[in-house]
Amino acid sequence: MSSATYETLKRDDHRYLWHPFTQMRVWMRDDPLIIERGEGNYLIDVSGRRYLDGVSSLWCNVHGHRKPELDRALTEQAGRIAHSTMLGLANVPAIELGRELVSIAPSGLSRVFYSDSGAEAVEVAIRMAAQYWQLTGQPGRKLFLALTESYHGDTIGSVSLGYSEQFHRHIRGLLFPAIKTDPPHVFRFYRRMAPEAAVSEALEAAARVIDEHRGELAALIIEPMMQGAAGMWSHPADYLSGIARLARDAGALVIADEVATGFGRTGAMFACEHAGLRPDLLCMGKGITGGYMPLAATLATEEIFEAFLGEANEYRAFYYGHTYTGNPLAAAVARANLGLFRDERVVERIQPQIKQLSDDLDGRFAALPNVADIRQCGMMAGIELMEDAQRRISYDSSRTVGHQVIRRARDKGVIIRPLGDVIILMPPLSIGESELKFLLDAVYDSIREVTLR
Ligand SMILES: *Cc1c(COP(=O)(O)O)cnc(C)c1O
Repeated sequence: MSSATYETLKRDDHRYLWHPFTQMRVWMRDDPLIIERGEGNYLIDVSGRRYLDGVSSLWCNVHGHRKPELDRALTEQAGRIAHSTMLGLANVPAIELGRELVSIAPSGLSRVFYSDSGAEAVEVAIRMAAQYWQLTGQPGRKLFLALTESYHGDTIGSVSLGYSEQFHRHIRGLLFPAIKTDPPHVFRFYRRMAPEAAVSEALEAAARVIDEHRGELAALIIEPMMQGAAGMWSHPADYLSGIARLARDAGALVIADEVATGFGRTGAMFACEHAGLRPDLLCMGKGITGGYMPLAATLATEEIFEAFLGEANEYRAFYYGHTYTGNPLAAAVARANLGLFRDERVVERIQPQIKQLSDDLDGRFAALPNVADIRQCGMMAGIELMEDAQRRISYDSSRTVGHQVIRRARDKGVIIRPLGDVIILMPPLSIGESELKFLLDAVYDSIREVTLR
């Protein structure tokens, strides 16, 4: 593509668009990287430069770009119909996908409710849990328990559970109240406790807050094994099963937000499997279509589903939905995604790369003086950089160290995105040994160049 075209695109991006989570004044000072094509695990910009997609196009790509099976599923479905509504009608791909999702989900989840994004899948779970208690004679159960720094999406409901002071303080007054408890990371990292002690401390803290609100608790919501957007805060399976048990003992439902962790990301199909957890509601998004189309789903148990049954004039139905709910194009590509998981045995196949990642992180990355902590679960990892790693002193935010690192990495042909000063690695599950090495080398060198100056 000619440079004149680049200039036109840049001008129009700066003139017409408003990017998410972006300070547009800073954005408009810079030349945007404009992506035109994809090929396998690479993104290709308008001038033909190739970049390894190190965060799976924001955590959703699974099998790489232009995967023939997924492209074909889309075109074949487009040859039939792109969209028809699920309000009052059914459609073929949504039905077939529903059956397949139930067959791979943690056992006990038997009903599939579609939406278009992870935030909506969480919104649906909140609304289902709240209405479930209204319908089953415990109307006082309205309170949700979430983990400190959890992220559940960006609608008002999901922000109420995943509030972050930095991002959401301007809408604080619009949110409904939720209660929070600190996950083991807080105790382990900030208070320097040993891992086992941190888990028991965190479970005791959870038990106290759950006890205080016994009888009012509608549900616990948790990102199982790894709080992604917090900056990759991992917790052991013991904590996951422990806090779920505490919530259930208090009569509350358990919602697993697997929008980031689902579809092989943690080295199991769903992160709940690491703890044998059978949630009452499970939210899926991101990887559900292999990273092709906006689709999400909330899975529910038969017990929850049955509470909503009645005659039309009883108004017990779940009154919720979006125009594109159950979109056939998205459902068709999601089915093809599940087909690839089966045919290419993705979860098995990625185990060597997961080990390669952890060996390298535990080896040379951990030895870097400004690497304060490394957290990994499967193919999701965070490398936390600090001014003084020993004494846990952060870099001044004006130094934008995380941002510097990802810009260096970009010059070396790798796209990654930081969360503050945590460098996130989340490559497509299709990444091979040499591509992963290329990614890790670029990130290692970038961290060195920025922190050891
Ligand atoms: C990304 C994410 C969401 C929100 O998904 P969107 O599709 O961006 O709305 C919700 N929960 C978790 C755990 C996520 O990582």
